[in-house]
Amino acid sequence: MSLRNSRPFLAWRAFAAAWRWSPGSACQICATWQRDAVCGTCRQRFRHAGHRCRCCAVSLVGLNEVCGRCILRPPAFDHTLTAFDYAYPWDGLITRFKFSGACELAGPLADLMSDALWTAAEQTGFEPPDVLLPVPLSAARQRARGYNQAWELARRVGPALEVPVQARWVERVLDTPHQTGLPRAERLLNLRGAFAVTAAGRAGLTGRRVAILDDVMTTGATLDALAATVRRAGATAVQSWVLARTVSDDAAP
Ligand SMILES: [Zn+2]
Ligand SMILES: [Zn+2]
Repeated sequence: MSLRNSRPFLAWRAFAAAWRWSPGSACQICATWQRDAVCGTCRQRFRHAGHRCRCCAVSLVGLNEVCGRCILRPPAFDHTLTAFDYAYPWDGLITRFKFSGACELAGPLADLMSDALWTAAEQTGFEPPDVLLPVPLSAARQRARGYNQAWELARRVGPALEVPVQARWVERVLDTPHQTGLPRAERLLNLRGAFAVTAAGRAGLTGRRVAILDDVMTTGATLDALAATVRRAGATAVQSWVLARTVSDDAAP
């Protein structure tokens, strides 16, 4: 009998095949071995139970539909959908995805985002946009990081929500210094002229309902600046889709 037909070899091969084929993994939060990247128990335990501003998705304690800041100074987007609060345990996962090169988390985070957006959309009367635009990075920032986290999410979330994705309709023409810790007014000032619409975008945006996608909304200044840019190019409605929303406008990631 050759080695290839021996029982130990066949048993080993079956074991190896089963191991490679196994769809299981450790939950990224509690490390329980199961099928999804984040287990059902953790999803349920750390979901956002409260109510949010319809416009900027900040958590609201009262029954108001829109927060005071959005009433005083309405941003250029009409509506925001988000999956989580930027708080434990999601902040740790997003930091790994964004700053530690853990691009493999894009798939699991995009799945969680798609599920949450479907639910939020159903609850809030979702009008599907015509096109989804990821917030662009400057060429220098993208070279340094190796990927654009917003594109990595958008290229998965768009098909899941049946919305076409266009990554080349807007570009970031000005790199801004890191905005972490800056107040909103200063962020807005830094972002003036940061985005531009490309020739393809000028042809495509007129009369379109647009969703713009980013990983985290902190003060909303980046999404506000991009929303204003696409409106100037003819977009008729703009939604923001974000993976996580900070609990207050000061809790910058
Ligand atoms: Zn878990
Ligand atoms: Zn608001």
